[in-house]
Amino acid sequence: MSQPYDRVFNFSAGPCTLEVEVLEEAREGLLNWRGTGMSVMEMSHRGKAYDGIIRKAEADLRQLMGIPDNYKVLFLQGGASLQNTMVPMSFLGAGETADYIVTGAWGKKSEEAAQMIGKVNSAYSGKSHNYSDIPGPEEIALSVNPAYVHYTSNETIQGVEFPRALEFKAPVVCDMSSNILSRPVDVSKFHIIYAGAQKNMGPAGVTLVIISDEMLAKAPEKTHPMLDYRLNVENESMYNTPPCWGIYMCGLTYAWLLRNGGVPAMYERNKGKAAIVYKAIDESSGFYKGHACPHCRSLMNVTFNLPSEELTKDFIKVAEENKLDGLKGHRSVGGIRASIYNAFPREGCVVLADVMRDFAQRKG
Ligand code: PMP
Repeated sequence: MSQPYDRVFNFSAGPCTLEVEVLEEAREGLLNWRGTGMSVMEMSHRGKAYDGIIRKAEADLRQLMGIPDNYKVLFLQGGASLQNTMVPMSFLGAGETADYIVTGAWGKKSEEAAQMIGKVNSAYSGKSHNYSDIPGPEEIALSVNPAYVHYTSNETIQGVEFPRALEFKAPVVCDMSSNILSRPVDVSKFHIIYAGAQKNMGPAGVTLVIISDEMLAKAPEKTHPMLDYRLNVENESMYNTPPCWGIYMCGLTYAWLLRNGGVPAMYERNKGKAAIVYKAIDESSGFYKGHACPHCRSLMNVTFNLPSEELTKDFIKVAEENKLDGLKGHRSVGGIRASIYNAFPREGCVVLADVMRDFAQRKG
């Protein structure tokens, strides 16, 4: 099955495959954007043309996610990783406790960053089962009156995803880097949502932050400028030069999503895509073993192991011969990880499942 421009099926976890239509549109932005005579990369971020680009990106995102008016949208830099520090710097004050629910490697990093700043309560850790499950409500041990509760909606490395948003009385902060825009989410249930762009939105270099006015009001009056949510809001993401090209690309992706049924349509498509791969795991008579417990299997990152290291290497080789790229799992989980974000084509899941079935039949 040949792909446009002889592209491979790219299962990378991020940066990852982008929609061909979006890349084609970006070609226009590369040389002469809408008759301006210059690339989006070359235009002033203070100019009228760019102002239109960033405003449309925000407006489209607001529409896609149904972001209420009492929330601000920021396009920042520093990755989701910097948010791991900015959040406690701004919202974990002296004498306060922040609660962290850790269901994988990224949540652990968030927790560790917060521990460097203030008091953290480990409300849940999935370490004992190598992050293969999510907690039930009774397993989450919140502190009394936490400043906020942090969790990671989809753990990219382990392939563990919360099927429903968590709700608490305390403000909820969520790292949605690897499943934002992949399923409907009620933004009003969160006070801060953050996500690196490089999975479901665009190229690396842009970090999306959605923050409620209520939370913003709790931010310190003054802090280091680049780490100051208020200052970034006041300057509409342009306190310094923003990642102009990356934001433009995110905007193209948002417009593509809107043209294609928005988040609900993506969710249906994502469920279908993931089911194709999980079926190949489940019907392999134990040859492939899924890492995540079935009730929290990620729709974005499908993780599984083969019976041996040697077979894993062999499988990756066979997959590459079939133009399936980027399947090697993270070293902490081993095995295979198939990242199948919004822009990943369904045909790629079909080819992967066929290769899996054929390989298991020959080697099982
Ligand atoms: N959180 C999650 C869930 C991630 O998947 C990643 C990156 N893979 C990060 C945080 C870190 O993001 P960044 O590289 O943008 O700092």
